[in-house]
Amino acid sequence: MMNPIEIIEKKRDGGQLDPGEIKAMIQHYTEGRIPDYQMSAMLMAIYFQGMDLDELIPLTDAMVHSGEIINLSDLEGVKVDKHSTGGVGDKVSLVLAPLVAACGVPVPMMAGRGLGHTGGTLDKLEAISGFRTQLSQKAFRGQIRKLGLAILGQTHEICPADRKMYALRDATGTVPSIPLICSSIISKKKAEGADALVLDVKMGEGAFFRDRGKGRELAQALVRLGNRFGLRTVALLTAMDEPLGKAVGNWLETQEAIFALQGKGPADLMTVVLGLGGIMLFLGGKTGSIEAGVKMMERALKSGDGFDRFRKMVSAQNGDVSLVDQPEKYPASSHTVEVVSSEKGYVASLDARETGFLAMSLGAGRFRKEDAVDYRAGIVFHKKTGDAIQKGESLATLYTDNKNMAETGRQRLLNAFRFSSGKIEKPPVIEAYIDESGREMPFPVSL
Ligand code: URA
Repeated sequence: MMNPIEIIEKKRDGGQLDPGEIKAMIQHYTEGRIPDYQMSAMLMAIYFQGMDLDELIPLTDAMVHSGEIINLSDLEGVKVDKHSTGGVGDKVSLVLAPLVAACGVPVPMMAGRGLGHTGGTLDKLEAISGFRTQLSQKAFRGQIRKLGLAILGQTHEICPADRKMYALRDATGTVPSIPLICSSIISKKKAEGADALVLDVKMGEGAFFRDRGKGRELAQALVRLGNRFGLRTVALLTAMDEPLGKAVGNWLETQEAIFALQGKGPADLMTVVLGLGGIMLFLGGKTGSIEAGVKMMERALKSGDGFDRFRKMVSAQNGDVSLVDQPEKYPASSHTVEVVSSEKGYVASLDARETGFLAMSLGAGRFRKEDAVDYRAGIVFHKKTGDAIQKGESLATLYTDNKNMAETGRQRLLNAFRFSSGKIEKPPVIEAYIDESGREMPFPVSL
């Protein structure tokens, strides 16, 4: 029996762990033979000392093999998934997955819940009453076969080591570690049965790593690790200095996604959706280039096929489709606050991180794991970076059931804005593309 203390000390002192030591740690921890306090120390040692690729590969492999591995190879087509490193107002998956499926590429998508200041796809979908995000493996496979897409939560059988380690990381300040993020994401994608993966790596103020250099390093490491595991993996680097789209908050974002699928999406959101979709269709072998993939996505948007696929998914997962058809039926929050500009000029910036925390305080997120979320709470922005503003014009509307927040939210939101008297250019949303070989380049399509 290995001695966990010796392994922890080795990593603490900057040593390189061998595959046997890593495998034993993960296996014994999953089985409950190593206590949380020892794994916490191990995670902190990794946080400070890092890991090289020779350690990261056995770590990820041990996490993949800690539970079931879904094999979708009997289903036709190249299965392609997308994963975002976490953002504010990031409802991309809700628009992207149905459009890609409508173009004929199957999307098995295992999504997450809100974490810190960022939102989660599962919470957004569950804003639709009845929507089930816990699917059995049989139902998951059946839905991929029939509809070409399913968005579901991580089941208990998939990567139990990650599930346990992630909860510990959340409670011990060890989330923002490149080797821990990489092994967590790639192990789940490998176990869910995807063949290819596009990563939306968020850059800037609202990202987990605020520093763009660190964001790039994470993207490179994810691409390298994914490909080593036989997942064709590429990354798109996208701006997350301000929220994506106009809505932040679960139902508000789902509603914005419905409008987007009807061709009425905000420009920055649609740029990310079409860019990622073009890549997915290319990886899925539907088109010979990313550019042709983007064009195919545009056709699926125009024809309404993407919207139709979303409706079918909601229905298959037990959600109330009448809310998709008539979103105005959704009950309103008890307090609605208009936040008005006291200046004339331009929006110079809008802090995504602050906005995310404010939406949480309005009721849209959890401060503790067991907290319930208020699906209706959140913010709709009327002005974003680069927009001209007049004195007295509305910058945003806040929605909440919390009376105190209705009063204090206004000032907090104003503090998230910076204004300028001179004209400000809208920043680009797509910053770069990293191909399978790890080469970073400008995105090959102008959007
Ligand atoms: N998402 C994950 O699944 N894991 C991480 O560690 C970070 C983001």
